[in-house]
Amino acid sequence: MKIILVKGDITKQQVDAVVNAANSTLQGGGGVDGAIHRAGGKAIIEECLEIRNRQGGCPTGEAVITTAGNMPAVFVIHTVGPVYEGGHHGEPEKLANCYLNSLKLAAENKIKTIAFPNISTGVYGYPKKEAAQIAITTVKNNLFKGIEEIRFVCFDDENYTLYNEILTQ
Ligand code: ADP
Repeated sequence: MKIILVKGDITKQQVDAVVNAANSTLQGGGGVDGAIHRAGGKAIIEECLEIRNRQGGCPTGEAVITTAGNMPAVFVIHTVGPVYEGGHHGEPEKLANCYLNSLKLAAENKIKTIAFPNISTGVYGYPKKEAAQIAITTVKNNLFKGIEEIRFVCFDDENYTLYNEILTQ
């Protein structure tokens, strides 16, 4: 199992699954969510709507899976990060659960390669360094059988530098 760091656009990644920092309605949004829905096309939103009708969306920290539509990936794992409200509202556990539950769902679906964005560090306002530490620790502590590569895809320089520092410590 290898952990890889890249700077770039998650929608372009050649992996089995890309993770989406979705919101609980699963209706799409801005940031990485918007980019994934634009790149993947309407097959993704159709499957999201089916999930919504079945289970009423996706709670914070949990994850659901759909097709990746027109992207190079096969699946999108949609997980809902916490909105940062100062750090004392269970945000660290909820953010860790995003990574954990995405990896569990990946393992259940025989996914070998998975790419994560920097969940909650955009509009949801999670401090980037703390979020990076949680992401890396959670992934390292949950190396599920069958997953061969975990790729952190950083869109901005700040996240890339932070991940690079922590991963090379
Ligand atoms: P959240 O609501 O969880 O904070 P955002 O989409 O606002 O989600 O931001 C999460 C992270 O995704 C941010 O660090 C942002 O820079 C990054 N991001 C935005 N677009 C892309 C993309 N196309 N590929 C990878 N990461 C992206």
